[in-house]
Amino acid sequence: MPDMALRSILIHPDPRLKKVCDPVPDLSDELRGLADDMLQTMYDAPGIGLAAPQIGIAKRLIVLDCVKEEGAEPRPLAMFNPEVLASSDEKNVYEEGCLSIPEQYAEVERPAEVTVRWMDRDGNEREETFDGLWATCVQHEIDHLNGVLFIDYLKPLKRQLITRKMQKLKRERARD
Ligand SMILES: [Zn+2]
Repeated sequence: MPDMALRSILIHPDPRLKKVCDPVPDLSDELRGLADDMLQTMYDAPGIGLAAPQIGIAKRLIVLDCVKEEGAEPRPLAMFNPEVLASSDEKNVYEEGCLSIPEQYAEVERPAEVTVRWMDRDGNEREETFDGLWATCVQHEIDHLNGVLFIDYLKPLKRQLITRKMQKLKRERARD
């Protein structure tokens, strides 16, 4: 098994973050390695979720771990072809951020509970109902696979303001 490696995370605006990603037909060691790299990149950032398009790979793969309690056992999840099967009518509002939109946060309303089906890294079909932060995070990450960012839920002015800040950040980083 190859060593895990950190991948660099794309910053919005980037056309690769706006694409609809392709399903993963079959698992391979390469794809499992990709999931491991994504988890390592996510923990290193640090973040609670990461989607393959954020590292420039247009495949339907997300990773997440929303365990936040100090000293609690981590729960790394890698989901291939995740799909929301059902959403609650009840909504929840969380202040969201994104590793592709660093240091910008905004409240987004989403279904409070979602049932998700996915293929795990061993190729098993899994299904689970998530609530709380997990529900928000898994919906945010699945959105990435459809080219949707959390700022797409904001009013246009706020979205444009954040996008301009990111353009400035990218110019500064390019100069360094
Ligand atoms: Zn994100």
